Amino acid sequence: MQDNRASSAPMTGTKRDGPLLAARGLGKQYRIARGHAGILDAINNISIDLYEGRVLAVVGESGSGKSTLAKLLAGREVPTAGHLELEGSVVTLQHRHAYQEYKRVVQMIFQDPFASLNPVHTVAYHLERPVKLHQAKRGEELSDEVQDLLTQVKLTPAEQYLKKYPHELSGGQRQRVSIARALAAKPKVLLADEPVSMLDVSIRLEILALLDDARTRLALAVLYITHDIASARYLADEIVVMYAGKVVEQGTAEEVTQSPAHPYTQLLISSSPDPDLIGSHSDHRFKVPPARTADIRVSPGCPFVGRCPLANAQCRTSDPPSVELSHGHRATCWHLLGTGDKEIRESSSRSGKEVGTIGTESA
Ligand code: SF4
Repeated sequence: MQDNRASSAPMTGTKRDGPLLAARGLGKQYRIARGHAGILDAINNISIDLYEGRVLAVVGESGSGKSTLAKLLAGREVPTAGHLELEGSVVTLQHRHAYQEYKRVVQMIFQDPFASLNPVHTVAYHLERPVKLHQAKRGEELSDEVQDLLTQVKLTPAEQYLKKYPHELSGGQRQRVSIARALAAKPKVLLADEPVSMLDVSIRLEILALLDDARTRLALAVLYITHDIASARYLADEIVVMYAGKVVEQGTAEEVTQSPAHPYTQLLISSSPDPDLIGSHSDHRFKVPPARTADIRVSPGCPFVGRCPLANAQCRTSDPPSVELSHGHRATCWHLLGTGDKEIRESSSRSGKEVGTIGTESA
């Protein structure tokens, strides 16, 4: 079997051999309202690897399952299938101490920086608390650490911000405080769930640059969740594209944005405002209708079938195969069968149809 995991593994050497945080076959099901099929797979069989000093972006529209994935990785939701591994050990969060330690190592940055900060507390309070808790610093040491954190997120001079309340800060400044608070725990992994989507366009790049600087300086493993594939290209080493709870394409940021293979990835790129993303691969550009609840299928077949202009009868009845287009670049689509020269790894499990090797065996 070949490896079908999405990862931010570096192409060259790394300081640590294995991933810092890994998800193995994660699934999360929710019971949905009457009149629907009953159970919705919010995410289905997701495996990803996060490596130190690397950024893995998960890209998709609302409802793709990317935020559910972040909550599972943060330990805020319990998976219905699969497990997490932290530095090679299976994560068990039943015990309070283990959960607290996991939450320290794996920090989350939220979409809404105002909601994530307590309005009745100052910036100093938000930063002193985790420094006391996780670094056991007091007095001058504590004060120095808080000032250093503010400097790291470019809120200088630090004294100017210490006594301010969240409502006295701009959205960008609040998100900087949120990042500083996450760094105060001395984490190894940052899970950033749409960290710039609620900010002014003018400061989004500054916050992304801040995350980029933190991962480089502190060798953090970063999961960057976004609906904006242009920002993923800017920040990430690798990109995973999700649709209806499944990974539909994965590869290096360069490959996924310059040679998008899956029709959904092409849709995301054609919708992107970044003209640089309109690269050489423009032959399959098309207009696709917006997502509807009914597109989130629980029956066999491709979940994108209701929106895809390339769909055929097979797409409606059989799960599409994962096709390896080049090393590490994969997409899940019947239309790609025969376009590459690599082995097809997954069979159409629900239909029971085995898929052979491209070029040597007919599908
Ligand atoms: Fe479109 Fe079919 Fe490919 Fe799904 S499997 S993306 S419906 S061509």
